[in-house]
Amino acid sequence: MTKRKGATTIVSRSAQRPKREPPARRSHARGQDNGGGSNGDGGHVVPTRPQVSPGARDPLEHCRSLIRDVPDFPTQGILFKDITPLLADPRAFHIVLDSIAERYIGEHIDAIVGVEARGFIFGGALAARLNASFVPARKPGKLPAEVDRVGVKTEYSVTELEMHKRSLTEESRVVIVDDVLATGGTARAAAELVRRQNAHVVSYAFVIELSFLGGRERLLPVRVESVLTY
Ligand code: AMP
Repeated sequence: MTKRKGATTIVSRSAQRPKREPPARRSHARGQDNGGGSNGDGGHVVPTRPQVSPGARDPLEHCRSLIRDVPDFPTQGILFKDITPLLADPRAFHIVLDSIAERYIGEHIDAIVGVEARGFIFGGALAARLNASFVPARKPGKLPAEVDRVGVKTEYSVTELEMHKRSLTEESRVVIVDDVLATGGTARAAAELVRRQNAHVVSYAFVIELSFLGGRERLLPVRVESVLTY
């Protein structure tokens, strides 16, 4: 328990700067556990560099290692990027959230629009971190009050997206958040809903960008941020 608790604290600190080496305290603690080597004839301990797990060495690679590829889901030919192993790992979840949040610090973001469903998971947590409102963009028939609706074509489906009318204030600064940027159709539809309310799409933010599908080009010239690119 103690070890896990300590690791979590350190991770959230290192997650502020994903590219940094992990703080020395963790390395030191690991070194005390198993960082020393024996010379094999009993007793003499040869000092070695403290060992850290590969995940601790590069926080973003740790996150990448927790994205599970599921072939042919939900339809034949789609390689689905499953984020549930990442969500199950508190350290990785922190790293991803901090990595996105720090890109918008000081930018006065008024609202995060999260796209159903996996965009809610990251969007809600980001809104709390950035002290912004959270506004859901949902699949048809889910929102109870008066809605705007737009059509959406994704990498593997055709559907619609809805947002409550008057859920954004005019001129408010909005970041649209989703787990995956594939063709960009979903994000563009969310942006259309935002613009109908005369709000301003400052940026799109994704955990995963499938760059070979060209979604980023469809979203330009608006700023696009992604944590992990494939
Ligand atoms: P698109 O509109 O093509 O950019 O697709 C993005 C939306 O579809 C997001 O809400 C994703 O959750 C989902 N999506 C599309 N392709 C994938 C994929 N290969 N793996 C996981 N989710 C995907």
